[in-house]
Amino acid sequence: MTSLSLKNVSKSYGTVEVLRNINLEIEQGELIVFVGPSGCGKSTLLRMIAGLERITGGTLEIDGMVVNDVPPAQRGIAMVFQSYALYPHMTVYDNMAFALKLAGKSRDEIDKAVRAAADRLQLTSYLDRLPKALSGGQRQRVAIGRSIVRDPKVFLFDEPLSNLDAALRVATRIEIAQLKESMPESTMVYVTHDQVEAMTLATRIVVLHGGDVEQFGAPLDLYERPANTFVAQFIGSPAMNLIEAEVTATGGTTSVRMADGGHADMPIASGEGDMGAAVRLGVRPEDLTVTESDDYLVSADVDMVEALGETTVLYFMSQNGEPGLIAKLPGIHQIAKGTSIRLTAAPEKLHLFDGDGKSFLYR
Ligand code: ADP
Ligand code: MG
Repeated sequence: MTSLSLKNVSKSYGTVEVLRNINLEIEQGELIVFVGPSGCGKSTLLRMIAGLERITGGTLEIDGMVVNDVPPAQRGIAMVFQSYALYPHMTVYDNMAFALKLAGKSRDEIDKAVRAAADRLQLTSYLDRLPKALSGGQRQRVAIGRSIVRDPKVFLFDEPLSNLDAALRVATRIEIAQLKESMPESTMVYVTHDQVEAMTLATRIVVLHGGDVEQFGAPLDLYERPANTFVAQFIGSPAMNLIEAEVTATGGTTSVRMADGGHADMPIASGEGDMGAAVRLGVRPEDLTVTESDDYLVSADVDMVEALGETTVLYFMSQNGEPGLIAKLPGIHQIAKGTSIRLTAAPEKLHLFDGDGKSFLYR
């Protein structure tokens, strides 16, 4: 069943358009992540779903009902913010009970809901504490608990982990994943600028950039088949390498030649009109391997080596001021700075983008 439906949703502040024609169909039970760089419109889109921001174009449906003009409290949504927004003078119990008290629920009903949420979030032994006597992670769990007790149709999270330190972020991220698993019927929309959070939590990811949806798909779909160079470089770390190249053969298999003499054939279709076109070959750092063969993709001098134990990351000299290539080899390699190396990759791991940055797969 469709839980959230956005049709040509857009948002302008005066003459400034910050979101353009957003079309998304979100099924019940999904955990959708909006990801993108700061300022791309993630929070604005979430706040429009919540009803905290007016929609200036298009329609928003929740459970099949148009809610453009429905006030936030009647939309059946609950929102969790980065800043927790707990009442400092109330105990954990009272913070979680507050919305239910306002809604006029009975004392028994409230107690049952609060204790069930506390149990689910491992907060039972903290119910009598004030927020100031909790860690950041526990405070965020209380904020989540406050939304759970209301049994909303849709949960909205806006960068809930941003205020936590690195270790706690990972732990809390896993808790959110487990929480979602324990509530398979609930729909969640989660905003983050962190592609690792997006990859690990989402059933499907919406990549936003400058107010447009760049791609909407399953995490590994975006990793394996990015629609354009923006998604290619946003998903995955270190980012995908993009190498300037020229098309030398077209058809069911496309061949390209690089400036340094390297070449590649890949199982990606192209048309006769692409012959001679300036394109970009994409290859992920983790898909590159060292070769002695004359059949190489690129040949370059090692500029810096990072030996991390589990992987060795090689940084190559940048040519013509562009960021240099990065290769990520599994395990330990004794490679000195300045060494000249040839790199290759399996043909099925290669990506091809046209002059506009669009993937050949989606043309
Ligand atoms: P994100 O959450 O992805 O960082 P936001 O949704 O907060 O981005 O903001 C998207 C864009 O909308 C930004 O360029 C921001 O400056 C602009 N914006 C947000 N709120 C307002 C406002 N009240 N008036 C004018 N512009 C705004
Ligand atoms: Mg934001």
